Amino acid sequence: MTTRYLTLLGATGSIGVSTLDVVARHPQRFAVHALTAHSQWQLLGEQCVQFRPMHAVVGDPKYVAPLVEYLRRNSCGTQVHAGVDALCAVAGDPAADTVVAGIVGAAGLLPTMTAAATGKRILLANKEVLVCAGQLFMRTARESGAVILPLDSEHNAIFQCLPIKDDGKMNIAGKGVKRFVITASGGPFLETALDQLALVTPAQAVKHPNWEMGRKISVDSATMMNKGLEVIEAHWLFDIPAAQIDVVIHPQSIIHSMVEYVDGSTLAQLGTPDMRTPIANALAWPERIVSGSEAVNWLSAPKLEFRAADLQRFPCLDLALAALREGESAPAILNAANEIAVEAFLNNKIKFTDIARVVETVLGRCPRGAVDMLDEVMAIDANARAIAQESIWKLH
Ligand code: NAD
Ligand code: MG
Repeated sequence: MTTRYLTLLGATGSIGVSTLDVVARHPQRFAVHALTAHSQWQLLGEQCVQFRPMHAVVGDPKYVAPLVEYLRRNSCGTQVHAGVDALCAVAGDPAADTVVAGIVGAAGLLPTMTAAATGKRILLANKEVLVCAGQLFMRTARESGAVILPLDSEHNAIFQCLPIKDDGKMNIAGKGVKRFVITASGGPFLETALDQLALVTPAQAVKHPNWEMGRKISVDSATMMNKGLEVIEAHWLFDIPAAQIDVVIHPQSIIHSMVEYVDGSTLAQLGTPDMRTPIANALAWPERIVSGSEAVNWLSAPKLEFRAADLQRFPCLDLALAALREGESAPAILNAANEIAVEAFLNNKIKFTDIARVVETVLGRCPRGAVDMLDEVMAIDANARAIAQESIWKLH
């Protein structure tokens, strides 16, 4: 068995911690080359002491000194760096063959693109990269020979239901695929009266009924923007037209998504809602390894339910699907506006229902532009963020 050398971008987040949980079960198989975190330097320090990476990267230089001191006291020789250039350096370091893209939001764009440009095996959780630069990212990966393995549970489920050869090429052409059915839990407000949605709090919004995740994706799940981002993600990952991707609400989160074939067969991947399953699948692919997650017990499993998504309740899903249909820079604008709006909601600056209003306003006001080059994507993103801040300010 060859050892894989991992760089984990976003090691302290929900995806990062679950990944290290799986990695710790297979010390012969995986060695950790680099770990990165934005501000949680204490947790990063503990992870360095446990996994002994060559490099650690923090977002802000002010965390370097306390982390270095912590590592010195614990006799850990990990070298500490700070900032985006250091993130890109560890993402492209030839000493690592695998990069786990677990940063949240467009903040992950530059390092994840670096991993794509340097031919890595990329375990992709950071869906915002595909939303704002899908075509560019996939082209860059193709040109360098990078292999992209989806960590997002829905995309990993689809990946498992497609006949994919060991080269990892994921497009659906010639495989008899009729459509994808992406499942969605509906989040914590699936049954909340519509006139109460304006009153829900950040604490209620981040409390997902089935999954434990970071705060931003939890709010995205509550608005169902997450499902819209995932449809865009699926479009780019598998090169499937938007019209062949459907969303179905499945509140139990046991079927993680399905692939329907032209002969009437539907293949689904099922499991308990535990990210360690898709993470283990991608870490070991094409082999299978123990993840720490338990399979579903069918004798005590809840009844599986399905229903259509109500776009009046979930206007963010509608906005995301419209942005995908429009194409070009619309998804990048949608993503940037959403990141700013979610942050404002989490900071109690706007109401839950204002998230969709802000995104819609920004999409209405933001000039479109090309997204063929990285600096064009960055410019679109920065401009949409500025317009989003302004429209939040005007809401008051
Ligand atoms: P999280 O908030 O728990 O963790 C985010 C990680 O990114 C942290 O390690 C943080 O230090 C790092 N980070 C944040 N801002 C940064 C910045 N500006 N620069 C560098 N690093 C930064 O988020 P999460 O739930 O782990 O989600 C990470 C990504 O994975 C998101 O794109 C999310 O949509 C996707 N995802 C998560 C889950 C899940 O179960 N958590 C499932 C599917 C997809
Ligand atoms: Mg998902």
